[in-house]
Amino acid sequence: MTIQTLSNLIDGRLTAPASGRYLDVFEPATGQLHAYCPDSDAADVALAAEAAQRAFPAWSRLPAGERAQLLNRLADAIEQQQETFALAESRDSGKPLQLARSVDIPRAVSNLRFFAAAITQWSSEAHAMEDRALNYTLRQPLGTVACISPWNLPLYLFTWKIAPALATGNCVLAKPSEVTPLTAWMLAQASIDVGFPPGVLNILLGSGAQTGQALVDAAAVKAISFTGSTRVGAQIAQSAARQFKKTSLELGGKNATLVFADWEGSEAQLDTIVRSAFANQGQICLCGSRILVERRVYAEFRDRFVSRVRALRVGDPDLPGSDLGAVVSQAHFDKVMGCIALARQEGGEVLVGGQAASVPGRCADGWFIQPTVIDNLGAGCRTNQEEIFGPVVTLQPFDDEAEALAIANGTAYGLAATVWTRDLNRAHRVAAQLHSGIVWINCWMLRDLRTPFGGVKQSGVGREGGTEALRFFTEAKNVCIAFD
Ligand code: NAD
Repeated sequence: MTIQTLSNLIDGRLTAPASGRYLDVFEPATGQLHAYCPDSDAADVALAAEAAQRAFPAWSRLPAGERAQLLNRLADAIEQQQETFALAESRDSGKPLQLARSVDIPRAVSNLRFFAAAITQWSSEAHAMEDRALNYTLRQPLGTVACISPWNLPLYLFTWKIAPALATGNCVLAKPSEVTPLTAWMLAQASIDVGFPPGVLNILLGSGAQTGQALVDAAAVKAISFTGSTRVGAQIAQSAARQFKKTSLELGGKNATLVFADWEGSEAQLDTIVRSAFANQGQICLCGSRILVERRVYAEFRDRFVSRVRALRVGDPDLPGSDLGAVVSQAHFDKVMGCIALARQEGGEVLVGGQAASVPGRCADGWFIQPTVIDNLGAGCRTNQEEIFGPVVTLQPFDDEAEALAIANGTAYGLAATVWTRDLNRAHRVAAQLHSGIVWINCWMLRDLRTPFGGVKQSGVGREGGTEALRFFTEAKNVCIAFD
């Protein structure tokens, strides 16, 4: 297999890192080296920042419709190579190819198209003071902004950030995760092909500590949109505060799935609950990793759920029959297996899974873990408090609504929650009392890109999505005109 050498996109050109240093990128399903990723440093970031600042005056003055056209052309380019993008995403991350085909790549296309449309429909406010004056709000681009994304939904989250940043007239310095840089690098080539002006979109590949930190610290960068771990989010908030930069922080989670005794209980709903636990090997920030079940139906639910999980197939991501692929890296594999060992030490009973999964053939050395369900742990233990971000869920019983809410809200996180009930009054009541940025009722991952997206507590600060993202990437200026 040829090992690809990736490059940065700086000032409209694919560029090697100034230092000449590269990081190894591995294919999780085989454990084999498959690409070299630039390890960019402050010198590369400085070149990109200068290019962005040169490009900003013309880009920000371009009519919104023309910026939208370029975003749509970028979406077209991905669509034309959809299968190549899906293959690259699956190779880089270990996710089932079918998932990359049906979710990751189409949603990346939708992100670009959504913000292309949104910017042409956006308006700002006016505040009239009777017959004395009129205030109107200008929403102006910030200048150069940084977008930093994680490895779990690589192109999907990368485009979720760069699309609104570009649509609003900013120039962008963007960094995908060094663990999964392939599709961002492909996007770099596509952005040249469709005619983005040099310097408008710059893509810098490299490690978080070096490239990411250099982006956060660059004086030219006015705002940072970050999705990743709570630990790194806190570091970024501290660094950004020194220069009073705007931040949008989308961080970790420990989401609760609440199953009430009056849930519909259909096979289709059970399927969704299984998917909400194990999609992408449980490596979606929105996955429900704590399943809380009303005691009256606990035993029945547990048995049905476990038998569904037992039937899930862990396998070669290329094969259509694989429900779960590999977890993203050796380090992440070790972390998740460590969490399972901790759960056992804490007294957890592993109902299914709990081991590495062996996948023969080309995947014999890959990082696969069986979907794992753990019972018999209290709400306060580390397994139920700390983010695992893998194919591991716990089951906990509750007696009534108050206890369900206390357990659901009893962690440091607050990203998403899912409620299963047929009682509409209960659904509204519980939704209002859950400490989370997103609540799904009788569904999961049903996404409308116009809605605010983000978390509370240690799951983040700020909201993305729809007009929230357009607001984040602009500065509001009030203009007051007095009448004679
Ligand atoms: P991570 O925090 O390790 O890395 C995220 C990105 O930040 C990567 O590009 C990384 O290189 C970069 N980075 C690391 N250190 C940096 C620094 N000091 N300065 C600037 N950039 C730095 O997270 P990860 O392991 O890639 O992703 C998994 C985490 O992301 C999980 O905690 C998950 O819950 C979270 N996540 C959250 C959401 C959400 O919307 N809230 C979505 C997806 C993933």
